[in-house]
Amino acid sequence: MKSKTVVIIGGGISGLTLAWALKSLGINYKILEQKDRPGGVIDSKIKLENTLNIGPQTFLLEPELNKLIKDLDLDNEILFPIDPNGTRAIASPKEQFHRKFSKNLLKTLLNGAFSFTDFILIMKDLLKSSVTIKEKKELKDKSIYELFATRFSKKIVEELISPALVGVWAANTSELSAKCLFPELLLAEANGSSFLKILFKKNKGKKSRIGKSKVAYLKKGLTTLTNKLADNLSKDFIYNCEIISISENEIKYKSVDLENSLAYSKIIFCCPTKSVSNILTKHKSDYTQLIELLNKIKYSPLSVVHCVIPQSDKKVERNGFGVLIPPGHSKALLGVIYSSSIFQSEYSFPDHDLLTLFIGGSVYKEFADVHDEENLNRALSDLKEILKLENDPKVLNIKYWEDGIPLYEVGHFELISKIESLIINSNIILHSNYLDGVSLPHLVRKSLKIANDLKWDLTYK
Ligand SMILES: Cc1cc2nc3c(=O)[nH]c(=O)nc-3n(C[C@H](O)[C@H](O)[C@H](O)COP(=O)(O)OP(=O)(O)OC[C@H]3O[C@@H](n4cnc5c(N)ncnc54)[C@H](O)[C@@H]3O)c2cc1C
Repeated sequence: MKSKTVVIIGGGISGLTLAWALKSLGINYKILEQKDRPGGVIDSKIKLENTLNIGPQTFLLEPELNKLIKDLDLDNEILFPIDPNGTRAIASPKEQFHRKFSKNLLKTLLNGAFSFTDFILIMKDLLKSSVTIKEKKELKDKSIYELFATRFSKKIVEELISPALVGVWAANTSELSAKCLFPELLLAEANGSSFLKILFKKNKGKKSRIGKSKVAYLKKGLTTLTNKLADNLSKDFIYNCEIISISENEIKYKSVDLENSLAYSKIIFCCPTKSVSNILTKHKSDYTQLIELLNKIKYSPLSVVHCVIPQSDKKVERNGFGVLIPPGHSKALLGVIYSSSIFQSEYSFPDHDLLTLFIGGSVYKEFADVHDEENLNRALSDLKEILKLENDPKVLNIKYWEDGIPLYEVGHFELISKIESLIINSNIILHSNYLDGVSLPHLVRKSLKIANDLKWDLTYK
């Protein structure tokens, strides 16, 4: 009789950190991964002897992720971008200038771009109390655009909030859910409290949402972390894996033409919704309703392009983090990171600067349909226009992520609640970035929580 195992499907950061946490709690697990490498969207390419991150570039060094990096003896690999704060420029296609976006809100607002009326609206918000309501109210969801435009002005949303959020979510504020991304502001609205005090200031002993942790990156790319995790878990990591069938307590899979089976206590899906739905169709039980709901979750496709331009081609200064492009101006380009400038010690392209471009998202709707080269050319011409370049950028690498970033649309919270209610008493657990957060530290924290809850269940239930 085989002993029961926790089966993790997917070896990205969610699956890897979950396995790491289960291992430290002494719980048996196996990771089944369909590819021949770990990491999922954390991936890198070597070009001209430089390691390029072709998925995520940086992360917030929150305590759990920091501890993980230390436990893996990778603390010497952590580096901090040069001047990561206050130096994101926002390209203003209408006005043709670059506005500095600072974590100091007052500095940002006083840089000449906003009107006196905007300033008054900000002051009115700051005069409100910073107390949030105590009892948990049923919050009605709305778009982030609506939330901020009601309190401030359309200009502030379109030229400050939207570009700032496009850098993370690759989506328009008119489609993103306030209930998922800023629940505390929905509460503040219901209570007549100040948004800005909650966002920027320490509120009743709690740390503010903005500026809490340091932005960091790893010297030789983020794959250093996922590769080291996978090395530590290698005995229980099965690559090139295809799931054949699942019954109530057994999962059959094939790896390199060999069929195998595992008796499992729980299956934890750490992969995109498309894969979860696909695998659930192979389950002996009927998961039709769950599959239908999972299929409602959309993802924003995204390309990450690395290119170099001559250092001398510099009509627009390229120091600081990069440029964010406000949605709604028919640009294929979402944002640019000045990689040579912020990751200075890491890249060496003599006489050239390395730029990392983010293209598409759900902002640029044609993206999913148009031929890759057309998108690329369009984004490169956006880049030339915004940075006033004389030379054509030289492209080093293009990576297209079909299921780039999950789209947390208005109503996402309710959709996820329904999904979770369908599996509450089953031996299935869902984990990954479409549930309640996409960032790397969030997923690490969630892995620890799932592992600890599981330990409790296996011990006391
Ligand atoms: C371009 C880009 C830039 C980003 N930038 C940042 C950033 O700077 N900072 C930050 O914090 N976050 C960033 N994110 C978000 C973050 O990287 C992701 O949310 C996170 O890495 C997702 O991890 P995951 O393990 O949940 O999913 P994934 O990384 O998607 O891993 C899922 C794994 O499941 C496997 N799998 C899929 N189907 C099956 C199957 N049928 N059977 C077995 N295995 C399967 C896949 O091969 C993959 O290995 C970025 C994301 C993208 C795409």
